[in-house]
Amino acid sequence: MINLETPKKFEFLVSQAHQVATEIFRPNSRKYDGHEHSYPKELDMLAAVIDGMNEGGALSGAGAGAVGGGNGATAKEKQGANRNGSNIASLLGLTELCWGDVGLLLTMPRQGLGQAAIAAVADEEQLKRFGGKWAAMAITEPEAGSDSAAIRTTATLEGDEYVLNGEKIFVTAGDRAELIVVWATLDRKQGRAAIKSFVVERDNPGLTLERLEHKLGIRASDTADFRLENCRIPKENLLGSPEIEPKRGFAGVMQTFDNTRPLVAGMAIGVSRACLERTRELLAEGGVEIDYDLPPHSQVAAASEFIAMESDWEAARLLTMQAAWMADNKKPNSLQASMAKAKAGRTATDIALRCVALCGSIGYGEGELLEKWARDVKILDLFEGTQQIQLLIVARQLLGKTSAELK
Ligand SMILES: Cc1cc2nc3c(=O)[nH]c(=O)nc-3n(C[C@H](O)[C@H](O)[C@H](O)COP(=O)(O)OP(=O)(O)OC[C@H]3O[C@@H](n4cnc5c(N)ncnc54)[C@H](O)[C@@H]3O)c2cc1C
Repeated sequence: MINLETPKKFEFLVSQAHQVATEIFRPNSRKYDGHEHSYPKELDMLAAVIDGMNEGGALSGAGAGAVGGGNGATAKEKQGANRNGSNIASLLGLTELCWGDVGLLLTMPRQGLGQAAIAAVADEEQLKRFGGKWAAMAITEPEAGSDSAAIRTTATLEGDEYVLNGEKIFVTAGDRAELIVVWATLDRKQGRAAIKSFVVERDNPGLTLERLEHKLGIRASDTADFRLENCRIPKENLLGSPEIEPKRGFAGVMQTFDNTRPLVAGMAIGVSRACLERTRELLAEGGVEIDYDLPPHSQVAAASEFIAMESDWEAARLLTMQAAWMADNKKPNSLQASMAKAKAGRTATDIALRCVALCGSIGYGEGELLEKWARDVKILDLFEGTQQIQLLIVARQLLGKTSAELK
């Protein structure tokens, strides 16, 4: 049964993450919001802390539990009783760090959603070779966003190498990461089953940076567009099986999302908790008391709205915990991962904007981080599959429809 208290073995991790969020992220939030595209050098100091978190399974090992091993499992957990592995650890760590600043989290060295892709599909040798490196994930193309089955980047086997050609856009940490996990097709005629992920070193001469995006929020995080031109990689850099198995369809690469979506949901939980906490303080300063013993209609409107937001937040948090816990316990979680991402993305965006509104001109001004959080949070309802796409996946799963039957 799921236990909602923070597991004892992760308490230190959570407190370390909170310290980083408070002492490094928050004080630098505005600076890198203003200086888009300049690297937050303060994060380099964190290398040692990050290594510690990785050892505790907190960050870049996200999803490792799903492929076996995982970090920090107790003997009882290893027997399959109730396991809190790297998915829950990652979730708790990321949530805490995003309470500090989601843009800075997304540009933390040695992290990256690409690591979750590696953990989900890589074999033991690849896990050793790529584990712990900063890895970005490149799926999106000019003609393929929500419909990732439409990707056109090709991978052709020539001797001992794959040759990659195509274009990738909106790659988070694409300029700063050490590795880029690129989705490409082995044969466009064979559809989704031919799509595989390939690890490309960032300094590969076949990978050219085209431009960096200017964005609404998460400006501390670089978002890169690339061209892959005769980009040669060792054939051992293909993640998972090179066989095209039409029956498995998209299952191989899509497994990545079962691990990453709960994490993105966790990021949304972190940002919106920050919004709620700051709003509570500002309301208290303005003389608004929140009384949990009174029914909502007996309170001032602001207090009753605040309580409604908190309960919505709690529902999102519980769904997110469930999705990550299922991944740790090797239970199929595609449905719950999409439910969590949809609920947390929508709820967090809604909470951030309502908090700005509740705090009036103070909330809208740059004197408060609420204004920035309201801009930052929107991406969490977009990348790793938009709100609409998550709802589509949930509907397909509940109704037992294929992607061809329900588009
Ligand atoms: C800051 C940022 C960082 C990103 N980081 C990464 C990254 O690291 N790696 C990566 O690969 N990608 C990344 N992306 C890309 C992101 O995942 C895509 O933007 C997203 O998947 C949507 O694709 P699209 O922009 O092409 O929109 P489209 O797919 O064109 O969708 C446009 C709108 O139509 C809706 N829509 C589409 N299809 C349907 C449907 N069938 N039913 C109902 N509604 C539908 C969508 O929900 C959306 O609202 C990033 C994007 C941004 C903005």
